[in-house]
Amino acid sequence: MTELDALREACLGCTACGLSVRRNSVVFGEGNPASPLVLVGEGPGETEDLTGRPFVGKAGQLLDRALADNGLDRTMVYICNTVKCRACDWNDGRARNRPPTEAEVAACRPWLERQLRLIAPKIILCVGAPSAKNLIKKDFSITRERGRYFPCAFARAAIATLHPAYILRQQGADNDGGYSLLVRDIGRAWAAAQRLLQGPEASKDPRDAGEACQPTLPGV
Ligand code: SF4
Repeated sequence: MTELDALREACLGCTACGLSVRRNSVVFGEGNPASPLVLVGEGPGETEDLTGRPFVGKAGQLLDRALADNGLDRTMVYICNTVKCRACDWNDGRARNRPPTEAEVAACRPWLERQLRLIAPKIILCVGAPSAKNLIKKDFSITRERGRYFPCAFARAAIATLHPAYILRQQGADNDGGYSLLVRDIGRAWAAAQRLLQGPEASKDPRDAGEACQPTLPGV
C-alpha cells in the first residue's frame, strides 16, 4: 500500500466536520498520482457523493471532454477536491448542494495538503474560483486572474480555470459559455507541467510566460 493509499483509507473514515453525518461517500480523488498535473475542484456533488468519484456528473462529463480535446484522459492527470464530502442543506428530506463553509474547508484542509504533498505535482489547475481562493489566494478573481500562473505551496505553480458547472449554466445557442477557455487552460497547464518535467532547460518558471488572459466571461 502506498502512502497515498493509506491516506485515502484514513480519509474514508474521517468525521472531522459535520459533512460526515449524511454523506454516502468520501470523495478522496482519483487518477494518476505520478502525473505532473493535478486538477482541484471545490467539492463533490450528488453524483460524486453516490459514486465516490470526483467530477462524474454533467460537469464532470464536460471536464472529460475538455481533457479529451487536449489529447488527455483521467489516467494522465489526478483529480480531487478541496473538500472531500458533499456539502448540502436538507429540506423535507431533500438535499440541495451548497458551498462548503469556511469551517468545513478548514477541517478538510489537512487531507488536501497531505494529498498534494504526496503527489507533488508540477502544476495545480484550480477548477473554479473556490478552489483558487483556497490554493492561490483568498481574494482570487476568476474574471481578472483566470489563466495566470501563481506561486503555490504544493506545486511549482498554480493556475485557475472556469468550473465546468459554470460553463454549462452559461452555454447558449450562440456562445460556448467559456468552454474554449477551459480547453485552453487545461492545455496550457499540461504543457507547462510537461516542460517542468523535462528539466532545467525546458523548465523555465511558467509564471514567466506572461500569458495572462483577460477573457470576456458571459455572465460574470
Ligand atoms: Fe472529513 Fe473533509 Fe469529510 Fe469533513 S469534508 S468529514 S473534514 S473528509
